[in-house]
Amino acid sequence: MMRLVFLSIVLLSACAEKLDKQEQVVIDRVEFLVDLKSRINEKIWDGFNDSQFDLPLIYYTESAYYFVNPTDIILEKFNPKLIFEKSQVKIYKSQLLDSIAFHMETSIDYTVDSDEYKSPVMHASSFEIVKKNIEDVNSTEMWSTMVLHEYFHGFQFKHLNYQNHIQNSISYFRQDSLSRIYKSNSWFKTAIDTENNFLLEAIEAKNSNASLQLIDSFFASRSERRLKTNESLKIDLAQVESIYETMEGSARYVEIELYKLFSSNSRKNKKIDSDKSFKNYKEFKDFDFQKAEWIYLTNKTKYCYATGFNMIRLLEKLDVEFKSRIFKEEDMTLEKLLLEYRLGQK
Ligand SMILES: [Zn+2]
Repeated sequence: MMRLVFLSIVLLSACAEKLDKQEQVVIDRVEFLVDLKSRINEKIWDGFNDSQFDLPLIYYTESAYYFVNPTDIILEKFNPKLIFEKSQVKIYKSQLLDSIAFHMETSIDYTVDSDEYKSPVMHASSFEIVKKNIEDVNSTEMWSTMVLHEYFHGFQFKHLNYQNHIQNSISYFRQDSLSRIYKSNSWFKTAIDTENNFLLEAIEAKNSNASLQLIDSFFASRSERRLKTNESLKIDLAQVESIYETMEGSARYVEIELYKLFSSNSRKNKKIDSDKSFKNYKEFKDFDFQKAEWIYLTNKTKYCYATGFNMIRLLEKLDVEFKSRIFKEEDMTLEKLLLEYRLGQK
């Protein structure tokens, strides 16, 4: 009898220890993300880590919800228990409540009429859940670049004038509809691919004359396509397209700048010892940008991600300041900045 009691105590404590280890991984990953936010602020996008642009994160595992710096509304709704607190980071836990298989999005609840009205919330499933849905995600570091892409959308939406502007301008037009138009109209697809090639060539151009000519070709092709879209499909895409390009192109830019940071030997690249999915930045060390066509080719991704990202690369090459303007000026887009530059060169 004594022996049985002893065994069950051992079993119980082993179980508790296992749970603690899993929870430690959650906490360590959250601290890793928090550190990345400050590194992005320092190296990639000044202001990204300002507290005024911070937003809560809901982290989903297979057994629980974790809330990182939740708002009062979230605390009231889920009644979670505080499990970790260190400097600016508070992590709460509650039981699992939804059955949605996979989260990687930033949401804004427009039905809540309160102080937190229009306050975005970031949702991310754990690496393990993401891996089950997207096979290519092979490490915690890769997963973290997806999470930071979403955080960057939260940063965009925290610019309230910008959020109001895009809500008024594009809420009637989903991003998927752009992709659908691209896929179902071959003339549209050909024109977009051509526009993107002009951007890619302008990025590579050896002198400013050549690059100006390519920018002109880009705008000419774009105007022609939009005119045809107006006539044949009866849709004016100019505004929605340039907003989605700015939103997604800049989020992808942050994501890819993180790739570069991870491929460097910076001593600031942190490790997560508790996490067996952390691969020590291995897949970033020999990352081949040219081979990763999903980053910059319109037929390998949703097209506005690629055109937006390439516009940013071109603006960077031309030394045009964009980080201090988009989102702060609510109706500013990458396309407008490129046009502004072109008009200034005449
Ligand atoms: Zn995005």
